[in-house]
Amino acid sequence: QVDRYLYHMRLSDDVLLDVMARFQAEMVKGLGRDTNPTATVKMLPSFVRSLPDGSEKGEFLAVDLGGSQFRAHQVKVFDDGKQSSQLENKFYPTPKEVTQGNGAELFDYIADCLLDFMETKNLKQKLPLGFTFSFPCKQTKLEEGVLLSWTKHFKVRGVQDTDVVSSLRKALQKHKASFVPAGDVDVLALVNDTVGTMMTCGYDDPRCEVGLIIGTGTNACYMEEMRHIDLVEGDEGRMCVNTEWGAFGDDGALDDLRTEFDRELDLGSLNPGKQLFEKMISSLYLGELVRLILLKMTKEGLLFNGKVSTALLTKGKIEMKHVSAMEKYKEGLSNTKEILTELNLFPSEDDCIAVQHVCTIVSFRSANLCAAALAAILTRMRENKKLLRMRTTVGIDGGLYKTHPQYAKRLHKVVRRLVPNCDVRFLLSVSGSGKGAAMVTAVAYRLAAQRKKIDATLAPFLLSMETLREVKNKMRTELEYGLKRETQGSATVKMLPTYVCGTPDGTEKGKFLALDLGGTNFRVLLVKIRSGRKRSVRMYNKIFAIPLEIMQGTGEELFDHIVQCIAEFLEYMGIKGARLPLGFTFSFPCRQASIDKGTLVGWTKGFKATDCEGEDVVDMLREAIRRRNEFDLDIVAVVNDTVGTMMTCGYEDPNCEIGLIAGTGSNVCYMEDMKNIEIIEGNEGKMCINTEWGGFGDNGCIDNIRTKYDKEVDEGSLNPGKQRYEKMTSGMYLGEIVRQILIDLTKQGLLFRGQISESLRKRGIFETKFLSQIESDRLALLQVRRILQQLGLDSTCDDSIIVKEVCGAVSKRAAQLCGAGLAAIVEKKRENRGVEHLQTTVGVDGTLYKLHPHFSSVLRETVKELAPQCDVTFMLSEDGSGKGAALITAVAKRLHNVGQ
Ligand code: ADP
Ligand code: MG
Repeated sequence: QVDRYLYHMRLSDDVLLDVMARFQAEMVKGLGRDTNPTATVKMLPSFVRSLPDGSEKGEFLAVDLGGSQFRAHQVKVFDDGKQSSQLENKFYPTPKEVTQGNGAELFDYIADCLLDFMETKNLKQKLPLGFTFSFPCKQTKLEEGVLLSWTKHFKVRGVQDTDVVSSLRKALQKHKASFVPAGDVDVLALVNDTVGTMMTCGYDDPRCEVGLIIGTGTNACYMEEMRHIDLVEGDEGRMCVNTEWGAFGDDGALDDLRTEFDRELDLGSLNPGKQLFEKMISSLYLGELVRLILLKMTKEGLLFNGKVSTALLTKGKIEMKHVSAMEKYKEGLSNTKEILTELNLFPSEDDCIAVQHVCTIVSFRSANLCAAALAAILTRMRENKKLLRMRTTVGIDGGLYKTHPQYAKRLHKVVRRLVPNCDVRFLLSVSGSGKGAAMVTAVAYRLAAQRKKIDATLAPFLLSMETLREVKNKMRTELEYGLKRETQGSATVKMLPTYVCGTPDGTEKGKFLALDLGGTNFRVLLVKIRSGRKRSVRMYNKIFAIPLEIMQGTGEELFDHIVQCIAEFLEYMGIKGARLPLGFTFSFPCRQASIDKGTLVGWTKGFKATDCEGEDVVDMLREAIRRRNEFDLDIVAVVNDTVGTMMTCGYEDPNCEIGLIAGTGSNVCYMEDMKNIEIIEGNEGKMCINTEWGGFGDNGCIDNIRTKYDKEVDEGSLNPGKQRYEKMTSGMYLGEIVRQILIDLTKQGLLFRGQISESLRKRGIFETKFLSQIESDRLALLQVRRILQQLGLDSTCDDSIIVKEVCGAVSKRAAQLCGAGLAAIVEKKRENRGVEHLQTTVGVDGTLYKLHPHFSSVLRETVKELAPQCDVTFMLSEDGSGKGAALITAVAKRLHNVGQ
């Protein structure tokens, strides 16, 4: 009979799945900027961005207002990650004068109680205070919150739409107490009870990312991705969102599920029309719902022989504690009898069984609805994380959940049924929301301290425009040193003449071989150039690996290997007999006496073969070809990759007189006036100078901006003390700089929970391509975490934000330094030309420039800032080193007919 009567209160799984979908849609509405104003579920940002990591410490005060009882707490947090202890707490009554009086009285009362607490506990030092305030507040920062509306049994005048933290502060200041100096309580955080619960449980279980309250009221919070929270600036990381789900249905969305009893209860409440979902769930209302049902049933003669008592007619006479007692497994029936008798009803055995059943249906519906909304949150979180299965923990607090005999079990069961792909652990919050406020305060404290240390670590990477201008000026000085006869010998920027005296004019043609050695890959190419109207360049190439033991073995082995690769290529292309002209792109500093002679000054980047420095690389190649005695080649030109890049771009744009490489290494060449090149005879025309600017700073002239991390990278390199500028700006080193910083931050306890993993200790493990991937992550750091995981680094969300910041600092500095150097070059060209304004093109190659998301734009901006009189166009070279070598060979063959 009861079942039939309360048919509408029994919700099938299909209905619950439907509620779940409606709630999911409502959450999306609450998060959207335009849809939020009309959303019932307000999805309030809490400004809590981090969970406890176990390194928080200190003593904190907390007050907790908004639950069934008002409390003050003293909490001590230890940084061993194992214990936090609630030292003391004290309950204070909240009479109706307080909960339904006026604002000033309320805050005076809170201040009084807090000061009383401090006095009785003999607390004299200044302590940070967390304020748990369990009502919907619009926050703009952690320590500020404007009350949107009162809920539950509170209705205090003059508080709505005001900041409750400043009201509490004011009250505290007013209440100067003799034992505590005025204002010596610092309100640091305003915390919703859901958030407090999540944080308290999060201290014990790092997987806890949801806080749930089922008590006087009901509500939940969870960690949402920042990119989905329109109401707060920024896309990075996560923030806890207080859903305020109690208001779900206030727009009528649940009207099909609400019964006549729900409507009647709402009309008699303090806030009619509001918190309709809460009114179907929380303990403040369930007793009353039961009473209304019993009343109606009695009136219809279904109970107590149709005899209504005055007590049954009185609002509030049945409370949650009665409902719980009546539902008890063993004593339930006798409890029911007792309670009904107390209400002056005269229950029969059947009446008692029926009433007990009513209670069960009402509380079961509550658990079901709560489960549906929680399931919606869990599903959303799983989708945010792009996981097929998610393991997570829900922190729970609230009297209904804690004291009702079967509530928790039902809730767990239904949630697991609604979201089978989530492994949910339910964790009871032991000491409640007050401790949570202290926890939030402790986390805020820790983050502020950590932020200071991270800023200090990265500060040396922030270069002012002033500093960059200095770098530009120093580069200019070094460029001049390299060109002058008397200083050239000891110059760090070597300014090597290349004997390339002109850019291509389009009449080049023929078939050429090219070699490209000095980057990540060694390549052999066949290049076919056509001139005239059908002007075109076609290339065929094959990449060969150079094993580390050959890069760092003997010179003979290295060149034998190269010739071996050429032989394979000729075979592969079927041109073994042809004696083709060959251009040799050799991307290391070479002192040249003609275009087909180049003495290696010193290895850079990853190369260190013996017996090569001081030798002519063309001779070494010729000898290796002779040793093999299988084919002959006409080696026409030895070419630096910067020059190849400039030539390739020059083939398209005659204004291109500068070549830049930002790849494994960093280097620049440019067309210099012959009259400025003192070490070469002649004053007519121009010649391309390979600056070898990577060596800039080897005399210590930029040591003022080198950090301890740069020094560590240098010391661990193949060529300590050399190529200092290159080591701050190029692909071979940026990842390594990042790794050094990460190690240091971890040692300071700011990352990876202070644990330096084995893999992080490995040199080279952090590749520069990771900087690109990490810095272009628009997927809410999911990719960052995946990369870190591949490196064996178990990272939290906070960790990945810091790692991204470190990468950004290192790559930005690299681009700025490179820009400062380039500004010196374009300025020099402008002065050479004697013009007010220079329009010029820079040909660029290198993976760092091409693939890093910000490197090229920062580089361009820096040049613009530091060389405002130059209008610089950047042109990407399509395979500069191969095509360029062939073009140079073609030009050289035409002009000089050398190498025969
Ligand atoms: P080269 O060795 O001839 O300079 P590249 O211009 O291709 O060749 O540069 C290769 C270097 O670029 C690698 O050593 C690496 O440091 C860096 N690198 C590779 N991938 C990326 C990437 N996605 N973003 C930034 N740098 C990268
Ligand atoms: Mg290259």
